Amino acid sequence: MTNLVSSSIEQLKPYEAGKPIEELARELGVTDAVKLASNENPLGPSPRALEAVSAALSGLHRYPDAAAWELRSRLAARHGMSAAQVLQGNGSNELLELLVRTFVGPGEHVVFGEPSFVVYRLACLAHGVDFTAVPLRDYVFDIPAMIAAVTPQTKLLFIANPNNPTGTYVPRAALEQCLREVPPSVIVAIDEAYTEYADAPDFVSALELRGLRERLVVLRTFSKIYGLAALRVGYALGPADIIDYMNRVRAPFNVGTLGQVGALAALEDEAHVRASQELNQRERWRVGAALAGLGMTVVPSQANFIFVDIHRPSRPLYDALLLRGVIVRPVGGLPSCLRITLGLERENDRLLAALAEVLAT
Ligand code: PMP
Repeated sequence: MTNLVSSSIEQLKPYEAGKPIEELARELGVTDAVKLASNENPLGPSPRALEAVSAALSGLHRYPDAAAWELRSRLAARHGMSAAQVLQGNGSNELLELLVRTFVGPGEHVVFGEPSFVVYRLACLAHGVDFTAVPLRDYVFDIPAMIAAVTPQTKLLFIANPNNPTGTYVPRAALEQCLREVPPSVIVAIDEAYTEYADAPDFVSALELRGLRERLVVLRTFSKIYGLAALRVGYALGPADIIDYMNRVRAPFNVGTLGQVGALAALEDEAHVRASQELNQRERWRVGAALAGLGMTVVPSQANFIFVDIHRPSRPLYDALLLRGVIVRPVGGLPSCLRITLGLERENDRLLAALAEVLAT
């Protein structure tokens, strides 16, 4: 018999999501777990989004607006662009994959950093395209090495800014260098899922640097600070020709009605976004200092999670935290590290107490 799949799909491992609270209850009987594993907003969705979603329920027999016209128009106005430069996605995840599917053909090549968001690699493997994963240097993207990894076959280069899982960012000067020096034929995709959490003085969204290159796509999501991860809404901003090609390839009705109305309402709730930023900044500082006090290497974060190296296998610690009802995230390929999402103050206290207890034994 011939092989059922290509060797590249054979190598694929399914995306490993943070452990759901319900799964921990099923497996270990822990009923009051806190989940600090998926970089969600601990304050929950905006009440305005909940209201808008409820109000839309009676229309569920209708297909969604296939073009997500209102959402795209609102996003375009917000970013000073035209609706033709905006594409909605089933989470930004769909758009990352769509970039590979639309623009990278057989024999062509993609560059991304490592460790970074695992979906860049998964998308390349799923579509059988070559890639180079350029190691981070001191937990930060090595921009010169990424530029050097570009070949004549390279069509796409991914950067997560801030990065997942390290929480680090590419400072303005390095981002400018990347946008200027990567050959103009390459699409540079800047994944800004966590951009709203960044406050370093030299952090800049690539949207502000659009003048530096034509082939630039910026990805954003409603899953993080907007607290709507379950609705699956993200968007891409880029030149109209790139957006047009992606729009041809995407699935019809890729964002449902509840996602469209929820996202629109969440955009209006600036107070909720501000409260989420303030909580995250406070807790990022407090939890980071406490983790360092426990002897871990704490990587400075610009996101809503903290990456730590505990300098010994982290799996036993992960398991011991699970038994105490605290779900964090092991990091594939980095067996001494953990990624810890920042929660509410009391959730973070529970993490710190559980960690202190486990480390003392
Ligand atoms: N990019 C990065 C860097 C992420 O961490 C995530 C979520 N873990 C995503 C994209 C995808 O998010 P979503 O599909 O929910 O928009």
